[in-house]
Amino acid sequence: MFTIKTNQADETEKIGDQLATSLKPNDVILLDGDLGAGKTTFTKGLAKGLGIKRYVKSPTFTIIHEYREGRLPLFHMDVYRLEDGGGDDLGWDEYFYGDGVSVIEWSQFIEEYLPDEYLRITISRNDESDDQRILKFEAQGSRYATLLNDFKKDIK
Ligand code: ADP
Ligand code: MG
Repeated sequence: MFTIKTNQADETEKIGDQLATSLKPNDVILLDGDLGAGKTTFTKGLAKGLGIKRYVKSPTFTIIHEYREGRLPLFHMDVYRLEDGGGDDLGWDEYFYGDGVSVIEWSQFIEEYLPDEYLRITISRNDESDDQRILKFEAQGSRYATLLNDFKKDIK
């Protein structure tokens, strides 16, 4: 586990951009944190790092956006609307094992469908500054421990 502090939205985007270079097919990233924490901002940077040029906007209403123009497909999900259940038949495994990168905002709402291994990034605000965020990275499983090690070297 390690944390990174950012002081503005651009910096959070840049971290996403840098993480993208280490990603492989079937990687799953959980993005947790309150509304306005910066989950979509992070994903914009990650998409950019994968070479996606299309404008990335929050899939709040459609739940899943697919981008297939980059180095790897990106499946960007915001499952907030599944809070009350009903997420059972969206075919999660076709995304998680679909040779792309899955990024899931509000992953706690589909907890029972998540794979056993993933990278969890929790973004929280710092009360002292409006634009400061703490990004906490936690690996679940050996693939993600390796990913985090590589990533840590890259951002130094
Ligand atoms: P979420 O997807 O978590 O609901 P968004 O990424 O949509 O959050 O929104 C985050 C908002 O906070 C954006 O308006 C962004 O410009 C702003 N912001 C300010 N500082 C930061 C920061 N350090 N990192 C990320 N976003 C920030
Ligand atoms: Mg969002």
